[in-house]
Amino acid sequence: MRVAVIGAGVIGLSSALCIHDRYHSKVTPLSIDVYADRFTPLTTSDGAAGLWQPYLYDNGNTQETKWNKETFDYLLSLINSPDSIKMGIFTQSGYNLFTEPMPEPSWKDIVLGFRYNYLKFLFFFHRCGWFNTALMIEGKSYLPWLMDRLNERGVKFHQKKIVSFREVSGVDVILNCTGVRAGELQPDPLLKPGRGQILKVDAPWLKHFIITHNPKTGVYSTPYIIPGSRSVTVGGIFQVGNWSEDNNSEDHRKVWEEGCCLVPSLKGHAVSLVGFKPTTSGFEVIHNYGHGGYGLTIHWGCALEAANLFGKILEKKRLTTHSRL
Ligand SMILES: Cc1cc2nc3c(=O)[nH]c(=O)nc-3n(C[C@H](O)[C@H](O)[C@H](O)COP(=O)(O)OP(=O)(O)OC[C@H]3O[C@@H](n4cnc5c(N)ncnc54)[C@H](O)[C@@H]3O)c2cc1C
Repeated sequence: MRVAVIGAGVIGLSSALCIHDRYHSKVTPLSIDVYADRFTPLTTSDGAAGLWQPYLYDNGNTQETKWNKETFDYLLSLINSPDSIKMGIFTQSGYNLFTEPMPEPSWKDIVLGFRYNYLKFLFFFHRCGWFNTALMIEGKSYLPWLMDRLNERGVKFHQKKIVSFREVSGVDVILNCTGVRAGELQPDPLLKPGRGQILKVDAPWLKHFIITHNPKTGVYSTPYIIPGSRSVTVGGIFQVGNWSEDNNSEDHRKVWEEGCCLVPSLKGHAVSLVGFKPTTSGFEVIHNYGHGGYGLTIHWGCALEAANLFGKILEKKRLTTHSRL
């Protein structure tokens, strides 16, 4: 059986790994090819801060909460393994801050040590919030680790822009993991970019993430800092519908000034980065895209689901083969 995965961000690579590990002993031969025009370190997944945190509310979408939890539990089970350093995973604690009390998030019982926090001191006019321990999954480490695992399993990589599904001829199943550009392969009016511009700052004394929220302006549009293993990500831009990949000097100024207001000790050599958070809504195609600003947070649950769907296609193909006999 031949499988083509289009996309080599966290979603494509993890889906390929999950499918290989679940089916390689049941389907022989099982060949998997990954096609992408950008590989690590040039994907959106590489540029992301890498904090495990879904949006604050799942709006009744319990399926997503389940996939987020599967990802958290999977990563937590590996946190004490020798591979965790190479994978770029580690625990990280911090604050979500508000100007007024907010209802509990749907992921309250997934993270560790969630508690309300009425702050004795003000963080940038925010007087209440939550504190919890979550996880970091740094794409710049995790993607090379995933590629190494796939190389060991004989998966082949091709650097190529795919303009039509028909281009990957002779395959049985295609996984469409093209992120925000998925609409180029199959029109999807619900798919829009959510442009984020962030700064990376050398500030190793900052140990906790601090994410401020304003329900009126929307998700990630107010200042946040997320310390990683090498630098601190400073952000606060989320522009739905903006496709520009260029650094915008006005956005740079806003992120920097607001970040310094939030944490005045934040001074250093900031580097601007731009990325996208896809927001949505013969061969078989499994679509795995539209993970918004939480693709690393949800990736493993979605990879497991892609493997479930792959299993259903296998069953269908076997039934068809048997009925032909
Ligand atoms: C500034 C910023 C900060 C973020 N921070 C976080 C965070 O802290 N935590 C979190 O969970 N999420 C975060 N996100 C969201 C996260 O980065 C995304 O949800 C995630 O990277 C999506 O992964 P992906 O594999 O779908 O897409 P991508 O990483 O964009 O990969 C898409 C792949 O598809 C390929 N591709 C696309 N079209 C074609 C084509 N036609 N032919 C061939 N190849 C193609 C690309 O080359 C690439 O390999 C952040 C996003 C941004 C922008």
